This record gives sequence, structure tokens and C-alpha cells, in this order.
Amino acid sequence: MKKDILSCSLEELYSEMEAIGEKKFRGKQIYEWLHTKRVHEFSNMSNISSSLRTKLDELYCINSIKIVRKLESSIDNTVKYLYELSDGNHIESVLMDYKHGNSLCISTQVGCKMGCNFCASTIAGFKRHLFPSEMLLQVYEAERDSGRHIDSLVLMGIGEPLDNFNNTIRFLQMISYETGKNLSLRHVSLSTCGLVDKIYELAEYRFGLTLSVSLHAVTDEERNKIMPINKQYPIGTLLKACRDYIEKTGRRISFEYAVIHGINDSPADAVALIKLLRGMNCHINLIPVNQIKERDYRSDKNALYDFLNILDKGGLNATVRRTLGADIDAACGQLRREYEI
Ligand code: SAH
Repeated sequence: MKKDILSCSLEELYSEMEAIGEKKFRGKQIYEWLHTKRVHEFSNMSNISSSLRTKLDELYCINSIKIVRKLESSIDNTVKYLYELSDGNHIESVLMDYKHGNSLCISTQVGCKMGCNFCASTIAGFKRHLFPSEMLLQVYEAERDSGRHIDSLVLMGIGEPLDNFNNTIRFLQMISYETGKNLSLRHVSLSTCGLVDKIYELAEYRFGLTLSVSLHAVTDEERNKIMPINKQYPIGTLLKACRDYIEKTGRRISFEYAVIHGINDSPADAVALIKLLRGMNCHINLIPVNQIKERDYRSDKNALYDFLNILDKGGLNATVRRTLGADIDAACGQLRREYEI
């Protein structure tokens, strides 16, 4: 089978070129075509000799993804893309327009095995991991199609990025190379449901990214019910890993808390959250839960703002996430589910 060249790091291309008897700098030229100029046909790489182009064609394939549906919000500039991968699977990305620039939310897996019971991405289960090329292509395709420059990324689309650890690390390294997109990891947020062993591993990379941790409940009893991963890594274990992460990277953590009426939004829950997180270098992102058709979860505005007030008074740094693309069901996972049924 031909090798996926868009998933090859620069270092890898250097050694691949040397292995086939070419000069090392050819690796850089090819990498530039693929990731800076974004030319995805060997035949158009004009400074590469035709004999090398033929060789490349024999050894490698250039992966691609295709936009099969695009929804544009009429209330803000949010655009939601449904992409088809080369094997026919589907994933989603969402392009959002913030004050500080354009942000793209990307997927890291086809489906998800984590089973959070409020999340549309996991309902039909897990199909496969995404390759680094497929994460990069979500960015390149969204920029090409929209003509907008993407300033920041969130790994909060379909899938659990830390469950696809090696490909996600490779993607982060490649998106931040000077040759290529050259995006500082300071402008990247990675969201996890709490894979504790991988949080420790990620800390070792000392990336400048923001780690977002999906907490969503304050007791193990409640978290077990809505997030099965909690049975493996309960809240105490998770927060210990978070403290280690903050200490090693010097970065604050962002906790995601989807506010679900009658489940996790009582004043007592807010007080318990203060107790859990007090003194930690963190921010809390309250997310009005997105309704999905499989569950009757909803958010109550009054309870949400009461919850926020209690956190504020308790000295926690909390904000309510603004809803974007409400008219196009911009929360990830929903479009793919509609499409695949
Ligand atoms: N697997 C990762 C990243 C993908 S989900 C994670 O769990 O963090 C991105 C965020 O959206 C997570 O915080 C997730 O809990 C949240 N989310 C999923 N479904 C939601 C819904 N229906 N309403 C609000 N937030 C939701």
C-alpha cells in the first residue's frame, strides 16, 4: 500500500528521501509544496524533477477530504462542514468567527468510544482514528473553501483526541512547524474527557496549548452516570493529573461544564465545584447543554446564571460559553449523525 505522505513529518521526509537515494533537501521542498503551497498533486510540483515525481507517485498517496455538505449560519459567521474521507467515512469541522479571529473546531476520530451520554458523537460508537493528514486537511480545506485565515484551533469535534494520542501529537507538531501552517500551539485548545494516563504523557511534551478537561459533574456518583470514563478515572485521580499538568507546563487548565438542568446545576453542585477547584490555576467554561434528539437534557437560564454567581462569589474564574451557529446545530456530531442514518 502507498504511504500517506501528508502524515509524514519533515524529519521523516528527510530520511525517506535519503533512503531512496535523493538529497535530503528534497524532503523540505516536497513538504513546502504539500503544507505551505498546499499543492496536492505531484505533477504540479515544478521544482521536482520528473523522475522523482514518478518515484513519489509510485511510493506515496496524497490523502484528500471532500466537503459533502456545508451549513452557513444566518445569525453569525459560523460555517459547519461535513467532510467525506477517502474511505467514505464522515467527520465534521466548525468554523467560528470570534473577536480575536477565526477559530476551527476539528474532529480527531470517526465516532467515539467514550460513551458520554449527552454527546451526539458517541451514540453510534467508534469507527476509527483519524490520521494526521486528515486533521491537517480539515484546516486546509476550511481555509481554501472559506478564504478565511484560521487563527486558532480547538480539538473539540468528533472523537477523543487523547485516545488517538500519537496521531494527535504528530498533528500538533506538524501544524506548528514553521514550514507549513506555522500556528503557535498557544492558539490551540485540546479537549479531553479525562484520560488520566494520557494527561500525564501530554504534560511531558510541555506544549503551550490549553488543555480543556470535560468535568461536567462534581461527584463520582453523578459523573459515573453521564461519563463512563469516570469509572476508570474518578474525579480525584483526574484532578491530581490536572495539578501535575499545570505544574509541569505552567499553563492553566480550562474545565468544561455542560450545565444540565436537574442533573448538575443545583446551588449545592456549584458549592461542591468551588471546593474541588479552589486554589487551582484554572478557568471554568459553563456550556448550556446542547439538546440532542436522543436525550431530553436541557439548560435552564436562571439556574445557569445562579450557578455562575455562586462560582464568582466563591472566587472561581468562570464564564458562560457564547452559543454560535445555533441555527445550524453547530455542536459537533449532530450533522454526521443525520447524514449517516
Ligand atoms: N472527547 C473530548 C472532545 C470532544 S467533545 C472531550 O470529551 O472533551 C467537546 C466538548 O463538548 C466536551 O466538553 C464535551 O463534553 C462537550 N459536549 C458534548 N456533547 C455536548 C452537548 N450535547 N452539550 C454541551 N456540550 C457537549
